[in-house]
Amino acid sequence: MSTIPYETLATLALHAGTAPDPATGAILTPIYQSTTFVQEAVGTHKGYTYSRSGNPTVAALERRLAALEGAEHASCYATGLAATTVLALAFLKAGDRIVVSDVAYGGTIRLFGQILPPFGVQADFVDTSDPARLADSLRHPARIVFIETPANPTLKLTDIAEAARCAHAAGALVAVDNTILTPVLQRPFELGADIVLHSTTKYIDGHNATVGGALVTRKAEIHERLVYLRNAIGAIQSPFNAWLTLQGVKTLPLRMERHCENSLRVARFLEDHPRVTCVLYPGLDSFPQREIARRQHRAGGALLAFEVEGGTEAGIRVLNNTRLCALAENLGSAETLITHPASMTHAAVPPEQRLAIGITDGLVRLSVGLENPDDLIDDLRHALSA
Ligand code: PLP
Repeated sequence: MSTIPYETLATLALHAGTAPDPATGAILTPIYQSTTFVQEAVGTHKGYTYSRSGNPTVAALERRLAALEGAEHASCYATGLAATTVLALAFLKAGDRIVVSDVAYGGTIRLFGQILPPFGVQADFVDTSDPARLADSLRHPARIVFIETPANPTLKLTDIAEAARCAHAAGALVAVDNTILTPVLQRPFELGADIVLHSTTKYIDGHNATVGGALVTRKAEIHERLVYLRNAIGAIQSPFNAWLTLQGVKTLPLRMERHCENSLRVARFLEDHPRVTCVLYPGLDSFPQREIARRQHRAGGALLAFEVEGGTEAGIRVLNNTRLCALAENLGSAETLITHPASMTHAAVPPEQRLAIGITDGLVRLSVGLENPDDLIDDLRHALSA
């Protein structure tokens, strides 16, 4: 499939995968809130049999997400972690090995590092941002290289094209968690990915209204294996969540543009603030991997992390003193959310592993929303002076 021009994404986000309802003309795809679908005769039906196997509202969201990522196939799940679990069960068995980015969402690290090993699956957390380390790790066979880039919460980047070359040479599948930048800002399939994962809970929905996940691929055999597993373990998304997500995703390109503008304003404010000792944001010239960001991203995204003079206590004081930025788990919503990774999103990661990958107890994560950036800056200025 060819590269999709950026301008086309705005139209795809609104129209791909749906059409007015043929029965009524309803412009929105209905919520097919039905467990089962009546069959005309044994073996004859309209493509749907039971909503654990497939559902027309969920299928509409799947077509739209596939189109946005520039792929042919997508499957949607109850949560992002349900999608990751299905990916693992579809392609790993006892004795297999998976290589995972050392910095990743805490739930991903828990799944691969704590839940799957008792079933005989070995997970190695590797600094995938370093091609030499990745190549070294792939001297031992691995079925999957699972990359999160930018990585939650330190924003460490992996060069997808370089990692994909290395993984494919070693016979591994490449899965990229594209949750943080979305297809609007990063195009993993054009860089060699086999599978793209989303927590649709984040920017794809964008309104703090649902939890959901998706796995997208250009390869029919991968898709078939994933939907087989999804049905077998019962991990499909609900029709109502799919319907809400179909509404949210319509404005994804528009939202990402504003998210990025706001984030750059906020990141520059933080960088200039005398009490802030470090700001990690891929859109800043000071970002350590700025060159990869320029090459791989359309813009800097809307997630940033920072540390405050005075360490843990000072960071926690900022978190406790914002009024507009909501202290909450999640990222990617219209509302700005401020999070303490060590006690919230990454609490399940053992403390020594957390510290080794730069998630200090004072690190503050900010998911910059769509408010007036001046109001966000005023709020942070106030919290930093508390
Ligand atoms: N991937 C990333 C990058 C995330 O940040 C998260 C959740 O925060 C997930 C996956 C898991 O998604 P969910 O919370 O929808 O299960």
